[in-house]
Amino acid sequence: MTAAKKTHRITLIPGDGIGPEVSGAVVKILEAAGAATGVAFEWHPYDAGANAFEKTGEYIPKALYDSIEKNRVALKGPVTTPVGGGFASINVTLRKKFELFANFRPVKNLPGLKTKYPGLDLVIVRENMEDLYAGLEHEVVPGVVQALKIITEKGSTRIAKFAFDYARKHGRKKIHAIHKANIMKLSDGLFLRCCQTVGKDFPEVAYHEHIVDNTCMQLVMNPYQYDILLTENLYGDILSDLCSAFVGGLGLVPGANLGTECAIFEAVHGSAPDIAGKDMANPTALLQSAVLMLHHIDEPATAERVQAGLEQVYREGKTLTKDVGGTSGTKAFADAVVAAMEAPLAAA
Ligand code: NAD
Repeated sequence: MTAAKKTHRITLIPGDGIGPEVSGAVVKILEAAGAATGVAFEWHPYDAGANAFEKTGEYIPKALYDSIEKNRVALKGPVTTPVGGGFASINVTLRKKFELFANFRPVKNLPGLKTKYPGLDLVIVRENMEDLYAGLEHEVVPGVVQALKIITEKGSTRIAKFAFDYARKHGRKKIHAIHKANIMKLSDGLFLRCCQTVGKDFPEVAYHEHIVDNTCMQLVMNPYQYDILLTENLYGDILSDLCSAFVGGLGLVPGANLGTECAIFEAVHGSAPDIAGKDMANPTALLQSAVLMLHHIDEPATAERVQAGLEQVYREGKTLTKDVGGTSGTKAFADAVVAAMEAPLAAA
């Protein structure tokens, strides 16, 4: 075993529902990978949402804000948001507070896992702070409510620039901006104009526009036609869940919330109350989010070790969770990844 060379301080928000189970599994795997690659993690755990309120009287304790501000990197499990009332989404609040304007979600098959669309590799780049998620709603008169959809030139240009920069850096060939500008002519129209303007500086990246309802049909018919989907906040949220189904479901797809100062890594999925506490949740999505985090903190060897172990477990297909056709629990899956991490490197 290599002696630890570098310690990374990471804010950990286990979340609720399946959050503590999947984040427990991920921490275990990262600790094992770090021990073998000379990387140490100092986890700074904090509650958020209803759990935090019970203990501290705050939905997002000040200590959690301070921790993210200081560490600049967080790994986050899902947090339940009450429907039709109650407190504001913790997830949205954190994204706004730290100006995490880009939500990056790669959708890619894992080896050995049979799906209807093998070999898919697409990326969703979702604006993360504006749109109907601004949460500006009011009752005009009883029986009539209004929700404001906020789209700005600054926000749209920033996310378009992020998507085109990513395409250039990673040799991606095509970007589709997704919109409903036939109906929302001003707001989605502004979004499209910003994407078009930014796109002019990237002649090597083909730029297309698809209307969001057609996009849903096109995706299900032939997802291979897409490379990068560039979206506003709400369309990106909905298309993420749709696209997760192509590669095996919500248990698999990772995400990163990125800003200029801080980053929060979290899966696409929510707190899955239907399976919480049953040792059934698939930690793959959060684990792949943690792999994105390892690249972000410039620990590629540890990231590759985790990814190799994960892929080995899928290739063998013996210790998978129920959502992807297996019979194993969260803990057994995590143990299998830890065991598998030794094999590929030992063979290399
Ligand atoms: P969900 O993503 O929690 O669950 C949808 C379905 O996918 C469920 O059947 C669930 O069992 C399954 N699923 C999700 N993750 C899984 C995993 N890792 N392994 C196996 N199966 C998995 O969506 P929902 O039920 O609509 O939302 C539940 C709560 O989560 C809501 O309060 C919602 O607001 C919240 N939410 C939070 C986040 C976040 O923290 N970023 C994201 C989405 C939803």
